Amino acid sequence: MKINSNNKFVKLYLAALALITTSATAVPTTITNLTTVSAKAKKHHKKTKKTKKKAYVIAKYYDEFKPGYSYTYNKKKGVFIGHKMKKHHTSTTDSDEPRVEKATSNYNVPKVKKFTKQILNEFHLKGYRWAKTTITYNYNDVNESQQTIINQAIDQINQLGIINLKKTNKKANITIEVSTTNLARAGYTTGPVSIEDNSLNLNLIDEQTVTLYENQIQAHCYGNYALYLNQVSLHEIGHALGLEHNEQNKYEIMAPVSDVSKINKIDATHVAIDQDYIKGLAILYQN
Ligand SMILES: [Zn+2]
Repeated sequence: MKINSNNKFVKLYLAALALITTSATAVPTTITNLTTVSAKAKKHHKKTKKTKKKAYVIAKYYDEFKPGYSYTYNKKKGVFIGHKMKKHHTSTTDSDEPRVEKATSNYNVPKVKKFTKQILNEFHLKGYRWAKTTITYNYNDVNESQQTIINQAIDQINQLGIINLKKTNKKANITIEVSTTNLARAGYTTGPVSIEDNSLNLNLIDEQTVTLYENQIQAHCYGNYALYLNQVSLHEIGHALGLEHNEQNKYEIMAPVSDVSKINKIDATHVAIDQDYIKGLAILYQN
């Protein structure tokens, strides 16, 4: 946080992934004997008309593949032939159900079928989330007193009842580390995100690293280190869960440059989690 460039790497990563996807669709070679195929297909279609099921479908490119069909490339014909897969196979591939777990919380947020750009902007969301609602975290180079403060921020998030952040000693989904920087920023969050094609229109987070900059937090905490570290932790973990900056209100946790002295607090060392933050998590994970 502080300087709004912390999703640069994610964007680069997404761009790289998008590139891979694009080049994959360009693979198929020239189409030669299409007429033969469609004549055959017609004949076959006639034969199986009684059951009203097509025996096979044809695709010229990967992106024409239909769910529920298994494709093999026919070199002679220059097309992909897709055969309908058996029912027990299609149950996982035939539907476009996202493989995401829904939070059991019941905050009053809209039911979303597709996360459009408009919804992402309105609720300050990045366009991705974790597939699950129990997410593990661990520490790297974080001393005990810092851990105590960050653990309390994580407890505040867990108390919302939307997602559950769980400490682990093994490889975690979110790694939290403390470092120093010359840049004017208190924290930085980054990590790979998988491009997904699910009905929610959300990508899925693979892993995240949250870096908190000790020297910057010390320098800008106005004598209340615990309060500022609490706020920065909530902000960066918010990013790690899929929240984007809230540009409209600088007295909220997800403001790119927040004024911690004016943010609502529950006591001297803890900021109150605001409605914008709660609604963002609720709409992401309840849907
Ligand atoms: Zn930020």
